[in-house]
Order: sequence, then C-alpha cells, then structure tokens
Amino acid sequence: MQLCPCQVSPKLDFLIQPIAYSDCCQPYHDSLLDNSSDKADGIKAESAERLMRTRYSAFVLVKPEYIVKTTLPAQQALLDTKSIESWARETNWAGLEIVSHTAKLGKRHAQVEFKAFYTQSKGQPDGQQAAHHELSSFVKVKDKTSERWYFLDPTVDMSVSQKQPCICGSGEKFKRCCGVYLG
Ligand code: ZN
Ligand code: ZN
Repeated sequence: MQLCPCQVSPKLDFLIQPIAYSDCCQPYHDSLLDNSSDKADGIKAESAERLMRTRYSAFVLVKPEYIVKTTLPAQQALLDTKSIESWARETNWAGLEIVSHTAKLGKRHAQVEFKAFYTQSKGQPDGQQAAHHELSSFVKVKDKTSERWYFLDPTVDMSVSQKQPCICGSGEKFKRCCGVYLG
C-alpha cells in the first residue's frame, strides 16, 4: 500500500490510521489530470485544507500540472511548470502538518497555515529537518454550474490595479477581493 504523502507528519510517532494514496489524494489528482475521461468534472477539493493537502501530495509525487491547475486560472499562464517540477524533484519531502485552517474568510476566501517538512542536504543520512512554514490563501470561484477552490499565488506578479475587477472573476474590485490576500 502506498501511504498518502499528505498523511505523513513528522510530529506523529505512529499513524493512527494509515490512509492509502488511492483513498486520499489520488482521486483528486486523477480527476484533474485525466482529460480523456469524464472524470475531469468529477471530484474536487471540498475545502481549502483539502486542496492544500492534495497540492502537497502533488509536490511529493512530482505532479507539477496539478500545482498549476489548482492555482487561480488568471495566474496559471504565469507559472513556470518546469521550475515547479525541478523544485519538487530536488526537495527531499518529509511530511506535512496543518497548523490551522480558516475555512471561511469573507465571502469566498480561506487560509491554511501549514508546515511542509523537508530534509536538508539531500543524500546525507543525518540531514537536518527543516520546514516551509506558510500561510496560504485560497479563493472559491463559482461559475454557472459549479464552484472550485484555487490557490492564490502571492509570488506571481499580476500588475493588477487596485480598482480593476478582481482576477478571480467575482465582479468585485481587486482591492476588496483577492487583492487583500495577494498583498
Ligand atoms: Zn492525501
Ligand atoms: Zn477575487
């Protein structure tokens, strides 16, 4: 059984109930990455925390396309799939800890604070463990038939003016919507 990467936490000495990748993040990955089937519009992350977990697993399992497709559509073309892939490959991932999940912020946002652990100096057995400690923001985008959570990438330079309509398509001004979270 392949354990799901998002269920591995360095804080836990044992897993209370090990969850297989196939029962955890795999259905989300498959449904977004498999365009050939009608699964594409199937299962999707029901919360920002769920999306965060599937994105972590996608980093560990080197699925850069999943990282791109779960970022706000207006930002996707500005992402560098190749560099996401090499970063994911070169990082020696060691586990995930969700510190907090603010499931609802205003009308359509959420935040997840997490630590993504990795081992420094790949190749050295006694490598020190370190963590990316981050607060990530997410937005729920609705269209006529469905809604879906997306990651808001603060590192993407969008050069949007504060008074422009928001890049998430909400119809609100950027500064009152995702601009709050994209600093
Ligand atoms: Zn998982
Ligand atoms: Zn917005």
